[in-house]
Amino acid sequence: MKEISLYIHIPFCKKKCWYCDFPSFCGKDYLMVDYVKTLTKEIALRTENYIMKTIFIGGGTPTYLSLECLNYLKEAMLKVNKTMDCEFTVECNPGTLNEDILKLLKSMGVNRLSIGLQAVQNELLKSIGRIHDMNDFIDNYKLARKIGFNNINVDIMFGLPNQSIEQWRETINKVCELSPEHISSYSLIIEEDTPFYNLYKENKLNLPQENIERSMYLETLKLLKGFGYNQYEISNYSKAHKECRHNLVYWNLEDYIGCGSGAHSFMNNLRYRNEEKIEEYIMGMNSKNNSYAEIKENTLEDTIEEFMFMGLRKIEGIKESVFKNRFKKDIDFFYKEVIEKHRANGLLKRENNSIFLTERGIELSNYVMSDFIL
Ligand code: SF4
Repeated sequence: MKEISLYIHIPFCKKKCWYCDFPSFCGKDYLMVDYVKTLTKEIALRTENYIMKTIFIGGGTPTYLSLECLNYLKEAMLKVNKTMDCEFTVECNPGTLNEDILKLLKSMGVNRLSIGLQAVQNELLKSIGRIHDMNDFIDNYKLARKIGFNNINVDIMFGLPNQSIEQWRETINKVCELSPEHISSYSLIIEEDTPFYNLYKENKLNLPQENIERSMYLETLKLLKGFGYNQYEISNYSKAHKECRHNLVYWNLEDYIGCGSGAHSFMNNLRYRNEEKIEEYIMGMNSKNNSYAEIKENTLEDTIEEFMFMGLRKIEGIKESVFKNRFKKDIDFFYKEVIEKHRANGLLKRENNSIFLTERGIELSNYVMSDFIL
């Protein structure tokens, strides 16, 4: 049986954060039981012929599910084929964890938690619409350790409205004091159709200036390195051998199955997208055993571009031999001029059979990557 990865989407949140454009909903808790029952059916259908090497249950807030729903999910997950060393992550938010839930996750086979903290200052957390404060995070984090979770990621965010560089340093320092195995550090992006977007358009969002945001990013590199974290992707840092194997599947453009509303799959060069609306997802699955809103075959160009965009996010970049193996042509056949251009301007490096962004290139990654469109 082929080894593959599995993403499972839980679209429920207690409350929407002001910046969030993920396919997650609040006020739809009455659909939870139906949703999870339908989801377990999809998981069984899609996974039966594969062995999972990584599993990621994301959202939304998976740990916002009721214990009853988590138990349904557990039953389904115990039946899924897994490799011996399967990395099994669940995303959670502070304020939604307790002993019962953590023990249940453990008994489900979960061996990695990803906790969304974002900032350590309660006033900042409140101003971005988070449901928790710093104490909730510390309590939940310590409880997770006590129950035996020895692989934890913490998400933090910079470029928040009214966030100072001192506050950002404080966030990094306080998180590192807890010594999680992995830290994801993203800059806030103002997405359309969010409350922050409307405030931004009305000029009511006091975002840090570009040079401050750049300093925040550079501080992240310096501080996290000092605490022993290795940057292995533009926004991701880990202790030795604790990289997120599930995310590496995306960055290496490998196949994965996605289950749940709004979930995407990439299998045999086909991209599948499930219905985003919870009701439509349930209806589709129950009437025709799928809820695909779209199935699209990648052209060769699509796949090469995606391979470059995703691969260049990794600090080690793209191995030329891997490219040749996959696309049966040298990378220069498609990209000689682009690579030369960005080597000359110091944004790309080509060394030891690899092509990767320089530090400056990482800061200008959107610009560099846009040149890789065929
Ligand atoms: S908890 Fe996560 S998914 Fe839910 S609204 Fe906030 S950012 Fe979005």
